[in-house]
Amino acid sequence: MKMILMGTGTSHGVPVIGCNCSVCNSKDPHDTRYRCSAYLKEPASIVIDTGPEFRLQALKFGIKRIDAVLITHSHADHLNGLDDIRVFSHTEAVDPYPTMNAYATEGKGKPVFANSNTITDIKNRFDYIFTPVKEGGGKPKLDLIDCASYGADNPIRIKGVEIIPIPLLHGSLKDSGWLLTEIKSDGSRHSIAYLTDCSCVPEASVRLLKENCGIMEHVVIDGLRIKPHSTHFSFDQAISVAERLSPNQVWLTHLTHDMSHEAVRSYVKDLVRNSLSVEPAYDGLELEA
Ligand SMILES: [Zn+2]
Ligand SMILES: [Zn+2]
Ligand SMILES: [Zn+2]
Repeated sequence: MKMILMGTGTSHGVPVIGCNCSVCNSKDPHDTRYRCSAYLKEPASIVIDTGPEFRLQALKFGIKRIDAVLITHSHADHLNGLDDIRVFSHTEAVDPYPTMNAYATEGKGKPVFANSNTITDIKNRFDYIFTPVKEGGGKPKLDLIDCASYGADNPIRIKGVEIIPIPLLHGSLKDSGWLLTEIKSDGSRHSIAYLTDCSCVPEASVRLLKENCGIMEHVVIDGLRIKPHSTHFSFDQAISVAERLSPNQVWLTHLTHDMSHEAVRSYVKDLVRNSLSVEPAYDGLELEA
């Protein structure tokens, strides 16, 4: 698998509009962060979250087609670019590749997987998408699918990638992380866990991750800042959870302008125990598994 992290910033992005701090003025490209989003590039084309910069991210990282969209939750920084799925949802016109997956549901539109409260919010926020109109396109064709019907026994399967939704808590909000596992031709299994926007990974979800991953190559996890926060993990909390999943590499995402990329790097180095490798993620980071 190849996954690109298209955004690694907290809800306001970095730099923050109007802010004059040293991080927002930094010349280091690692200190420019779009809102959180990931793009699985190979072997399937899957986007996790369509935030306000989705169009810019799709152009920057050369997304040409999408097999499916996974949405973690309905906060604006993860969802408000959903309309720009439009060009990918009229596949006949734009997609030069046949979408060989079980979810290329004829006439229904691009599959979007999310939990039930997220689906309710999508229908409210983007009501025009689901309201029949006489003529004029100008809206995406989406097939909203409740991810609760998928799990360890029946993962979402798209082009050799198995995907299991991982229930998380983001404050009191129930959101979804995603475990993506590729089964290689030699039968080996390699996984990436994408766990953004959480302040708690329930025990059942830790078990779900541990029991269903292959070799856990990467864990991408919400690590907002040093200070605890009511709806996000601090660096220390994120590392404590990630440690239990024994990954080869941990990446902290959803970062703020409190600290520069370099400052986070050296800070987390001192926090790390048991030779776990932890780094702050950055926009454009490419993960292989
Ligand atoms: Zn967020
Ligand atoms: Zn700033
Ligand atoms: Zn959020």
